[in-house]
Amino acid sequence: MNEKRLLDTFFEYVQINSETRNEKEMCERVKKDLEELGLRVDVDMIGDKFGSNGFNVYGYLDGDESLEPVILSAHLDTVVPGYEIKPYVKDGRIYSETDTMILASDDKAGVSAIMEAVKTVKEQGLKTRPVEIFFSVGEECGLHGAKNADYSKLKGKMAVVFDMGGDIGTTCYTCPGQTNFEFEIFGKTAHAGIEPEAGVSAIQAAAEGVAHMKLLRVDEETTANIGTFKAEGPTNIVSNYAKVVAEARSTDLAKLEEQEKHMIQVMKDACDKYGAELKYTTARSYNPYKVTPEDNVCQLLEKAYKALGCDIHYVRSGGGCDSNIHHEHGIQSVGIGIGMCKAHTGAENIAVDQLNKTALLVLELIKA
Ligand SMILES: [Zn+2]
Repeated sequence: MNEKRLLDTFFEYVQINSETRNEKEMCERVKKDLEELGLRVDVDMIGDKFGSNGFNVYGYLDGDESLEPVILSAHLDTVVPGYEIKPYVKDGRIYSETDTMILASDDKAGVSAIMEAVKTVKEQGLKTRPVEIFFSVGEECGLHGAKNADYSKLKGKMAVVFDMGGDIGTTCYTCPGQTNFEFEIFGKTAHAGIEPEAGVSAIQAAAEGVAHMKLLRVDEETTANIGTFKAEGPTNIVSNYAKVVAEARSTDLAKLEEQEKHMIQVMKDACDKYGAELKYTTARSYNPYKVTPEDNVCQLLEKAYKALGCDIHYVRSGGGCDSNIHHEHGIQSVGIGIGMCKAHTGAENIAVDQLNKTALLVLELIKA
């Protein structure tokens, strides 16, 4: 492991602009880097499915076939604003110069650490298990890279996703699934002063529907939120249209389904009560997943953490990641903390020490 080389790689990667849907340059760069390291590399051109110029990159490092293959997973896109990032080190931590600009340690710390581990393997001729690298695009806008990935290109049945906050040792045993809702409530206009009886207030119906919804922290595993409540008009006309956009999440699939039914039912009931018409769409963005410490991928991680002298601590995540999609394809996957702090903000930073530990962890995970 070469700490200086890792830091250089990280600095280079974060200076490549790769905001979601504009990842092309970063994709080409990691493809080239993997090829130069002598790995077999594959891509899938799925960018046009979500308006991106990028593509997923797969790298294959042959290894001892008697050992179970591991998939190393990270994403190439960054949130906005991630443009012309200028990284610097202060007191052992890396920041971006402009305090309104992200650092993009999410997820270029993961990508750089995987690269450094592979470089070390090649340099020292280390023996490894079979390794599959999956670098996705479009993660930040709804896991689009993973959702559209060609999973026939991945043979492994366990994956580690290097894409979470928290220090090395933080292991996300469960991520919620998420469902998005769009409700449109149609009422009937009438003069609000002269003949309100002839009208049906879309606002009244929608408001009652929302008022009856279990929202925010529904239970330990389940959350729900209204993002948009939109209805506009003059006060002297009974409102004939309202729109409500909402989401629900749960780490338990049955609870998520129950919350979906509940939110739709209370909105239907409110519309029926007032005679409003309801149109709605729901879309399960991704399903939840759970792993247990007995699962192979956790066993592998525990052993690797131990070798580094780090304790494993299991946490529950409030958001989805590529791990959710891996599970939908029969891959046992966990997201892990790699030391990134305050991701998605101008205060984003990461300790150099955590970056180094992540590379060492990758080495432990893959070595035979
Ligand atoms: Zn991320």
